[in-house]
Amino acid sequence: MTGEPQADCLFCKIVAKEVPATVVRESETTLAFRDINPQAPTHVLVIPKVHHPDAASLAAAEPAIAADVLREAGEVAVQEGLDSYRTVFNTGSGAGQTVFHAHAHVLGGRGLQWPPG
Ligand code: 5GP
Repeated sequence: MTGEPQADCLFCKIVAKEVPATVVRESETTLAFRDINPQAPTHVLVIPKVHHPDAASLAAAEPAIAADVLREAGEVAVQEGLDSYRTVFNTGSGAGQTVFHAHAHVLGGRGLQWPPG
């Protein structure tokens, strides 16, 4: 568990602007940008600028920043005009996590089924 940038982390590179992304919101502690492979008309990722491998690790180490991620997810939904949306934290490869830097998916703009697959 670390808050330091990781040289091999894609999302740390996006924070550092070494990899381009379509940024929709930015705060002192978070960045929100469009997913490169959108699964819904709105699919935005909200990440902490600090590196932690998943949401639980972030919440344990830096709970105020975890709260910032949740608040920014709600602000993305407002900005995108969504009255219904889903916030997803995949944790572990078995749950579909592919980037091991904490992030919230904000999905909306279409009907969303429950339970998710
Ligand atoms: P995970 O599968 O870890 O929950 O979510 C990682 C997300 O990052 C995926 O939805 C994937 O499409 C997205 N992603 C992977 N590489 C890039 C990239 O280079 N840029 C952006 N904007 N999204 C990416």
